[in-house]
Amino acid sequence: MAEETNPLDELLQDELKDLYSAENQIIKALPRMAKGASSPELRRAFERHLEETRRQVDRLHQIGEMLEMKLTGKKCKGMEGLIEEGKEVMQELDDEDAIDAGLIGAAQKVEHYEIAAYGTARTHAEMLGYTRIARLLQQTLNEEGATDKKLTALAESVVNYEAANA
Ligand code: FE
Ligand code: FE
Repeated sequence: MAEETNPLDELLQDELKDLYSAENQIIKALPRMAKGASSPELRRAFERHLEETRRQVDRLHQIGEMLEMKLTGKKCKGMEGLIEEGKEVMQELDDEDAIDAGLIGAAQKVEHYEIAAYGTARTHAEMLGYTRIARLLQQTLNEEGATDKKLTALAESVVNYEAANA
């Protein structure tokens, strides 16, 4: 793999490194977000996604082995910014419902970043003929999509907008 010169191979490797950095940043951030959530349902959703994210990192390890590449050495600056914005929600608001609503929004931005990044990497893996890798990336993509939908449902059900309006 290291000897391959296909520029798309190099691009895919960069994308995988970016995702590896992003996922590891998310693993660090999710416990803090779970702690910051007042709704027990939202807290559980963050905790469950933390477990799922660990499995997604395992999947990236598998892919790294298949491509005989190192996943470290790149920092996902996009994710760094999104996580920073999530922190601001907790620092700048005091109302519990507003914080929960803000945390859901911050988490959905993270999921949308991941959906875009996994979708792109999956397509590039397909173009390169890496069917098994494309399938692994699609599995994670499906999980991120399901998480995003779940967060939308929580935004509508969990947050007490009436109290927030009172
Ligand atoms: Fe993820
Ligand atoms: Fe995710």
